[in-house]
Amino acid sequence: MKINRLPLDDKTNGWSDILPSRPPNPPLAKNIMADWVVLGAGYAGLAAARRLSENCPDQEIVVIEAGAAGENASGRNSGFAVDLPHNVGSSLDELDGSHRFMRLARMAIAELGNTINKHSINCEWSLDGKYHTAVSPRGVKEILEPFAKELEALGEPYDWIEKPDLDQKIGSTHFTAAIYTPGGALLNPAALTRGLADSLPDNVTLYENSPVQEATFETNVQLKTANGSVRCTKLIMAANGFSEQFGFYRNRFIHLAAHCSLSRKLTEEEQKNYGVEKPWGLTPANAFVGITMRYTNDHRILIRHGLNYCPNQRISASEQAAVKRRHKELFDKRFPMLPAVEMEHTWSGFVCLSQNNAPGFAQLTPNVWSAVCQNAMGVTKGTFGGILAADMACGLKNPLITDMQSLGEPNILPPRPILDIGARARFMWEHWRNQHEA
Ligand SMILES: Cc1cc2nc3c(=O)[nH]c(=O)nc-3n(C[C@H](O)[C@H](O)[C@H](O)COP(=O)(O)OP(=O)(O)OC[C@H]3O[C@@H](n4cnc5c(N)ncnc54)[C@H](O)[C@@H]3O)c2cc1C
Repeated sequence: MKINRLPLDDKTNGWSDILPSRPPNPPLAKNIMADWVVLGAGYAGLAAARRLSENCPDQEIVVIEAGAAGENASGRNSGFAVDLPHNVGSSLDELDGSHRFMRLARMAIAELGNTINKHSINCEWSLDGKYHTAVSPRGVKEILEPFAKELEALGEPYDWIEKPDLDQKIGSTHFTAAIYTPGGALLNPAALTRGLADSLPDNVTLYENSPVQEATFETNVQLKTANGSVRCTKLIMAANGFSEQFGFYRNRFIHLAAHCSLSRKLTEEEQKNYGVEKPWGLTPANAFVGITMRYTNDHRILIRHGLNYCPNQRISASEQAAVKRRHKELFDKRFPMLPAVEMEHTWSGFVCLSQNNAPGFAQLTPNVWSAVCQNAMGVTKGTFGGILAADMACGLKNPLITDMQSLGEPNILPPRPILDIGARARFMWEHWRNQHEA
C-alpha cells in the first residue's frame, strides 16, 4: 500500500526554536529486520518503545519517525499533562469512567516524571496544577459550578478562585472566576519529546526523517522509506491521525488544526509592570472559543487559540499569518500593560478526535496494535496508550488495559462531504453558542 499523505514539518515550532539545536538520529538507509517496529515518535510511540524494551529486553525494537523528534504534535502542544477529564459528568457511570481515566492519566504522569528524573531531561517539568477559567458569569454557571460539584463527587481537591484573587495570580482582569486543581504538570513539550527520544534504551533504535512511503501488512510487516526498509513480526501503530493512511480507522477521525504563539521574553521592566512572579497555566471553560494560556519559567506568555476543522492536515502560510495577528490582538486585550510584547513564534499542529472521545487502542490485525487518537490530550493519553498497547501486544495482564478498553473505540463517522458539512456547521454553532467565553 502506498502512503499518500505524509507529515510535513514547516519549521515553525516555537518550543523547539527556544531550545539549543539537536542533531537528529540518522534516517533509515538500508534494509533491516527487527522483532518490533513502532511507527511514530510522539508520546504514544516513545512510551510504547520504552515499555516494549522493558518487556522484551532481548529483542530488537525499531522506531520509525517521519520528521525529527519534538517537531510533531507532541512537541508543538501547549504543554499541559492533564490528570482530570475535561468533562466529568455526575452519574455513577460517568464518575466511574472519570476514576478510570484518572488512574490512567496519573500512571502516565508518574511514568513521565520517573523517566524525566532518571535521565535528567530538562523540559521545565513542574507539578504546578492549572486554572480552569470562565470569562463570563454564564461560563461560571454553566461550566465552573457543575465542574466544582463533579470534583466534589470524585473527592478531588480544588480551590474556587474569584476575580480579584485570580487577577493577581495571572496578571489579567479578563476572567470572572477559576477552579484551580493541583494535579497535572506543565512542561516544554519539544524538550520533553526530544528527551524521551534521546533516552530510549539500548535495544531501541530510532530512525528520524524517515517517512514511511509504502507498507505491507501480511504475516510479516514491511515498511519502506525512500532509502531503506524494515521488516518485522509485530508493529505498534502510533502515527495518530496519520494511521488512516495505513488503512486503519478509516472514517473514524476528525482532524483539527490547533494554533499556538509564544511571546518573546518579557524584559525586567515588563516583568515589573506585569507583576506576576510564579509561572502558571490556564485552560478555558470552552476550548473552541476560549484561550489556553501559560506564563513560562523564562517569562514568555503562551497563547493557544483557534481550532479549525482540517481534514487535509495542512495549514497555509497565509492562514498562519492571520493566526499570528489574531493571537497578538487577544494578547493585547488580556495584557494591556505589555503593549510592546510581540508574538515571537506562531505555529500550528494537528490533533485528531473521535466523535465519542474514544481512543484508537486495539489489536488491529494478528500482528498490529494501535495507540492513536488522543482526542487532543496526548501528553497523558498518548503515554498511557503507548505503554498499554505494548503490554497488550506482549500478552501481559495489566489491569489498566481493561480501564483503557472501557473508554470505548472510535465511532464510524458519516462519509465526506457530509462529514465536512456537519463538522463545519458544528464548529460554527460552538462559536456562536459560546461567544460569551471568548
Ligand atoms: C497547538 C496544540 C496544543 C495542544 N495542547 C495539548 C496540551 O496542552 N496537552 C495535551 O495533552 N495535548 C495537547 N495537544 C494534543 C497533543 O499534542 C497530541 O494529542 C499528541 O501529541 C498526540 O501524540 P501522539 O504520539 O499520538 O501523536 P503525534 O505526536 O502526532 O506523533 C505521531 C508521529 O507519527 C509520525 N508519522 C505519521 N505518519 C508517518 C509516516 N508515514 N512515517 C513515519 N512517521 C509517521 C509523525 O511524524 C508523528 O511524529 C495539543 C495539540 C496541539 C496541536
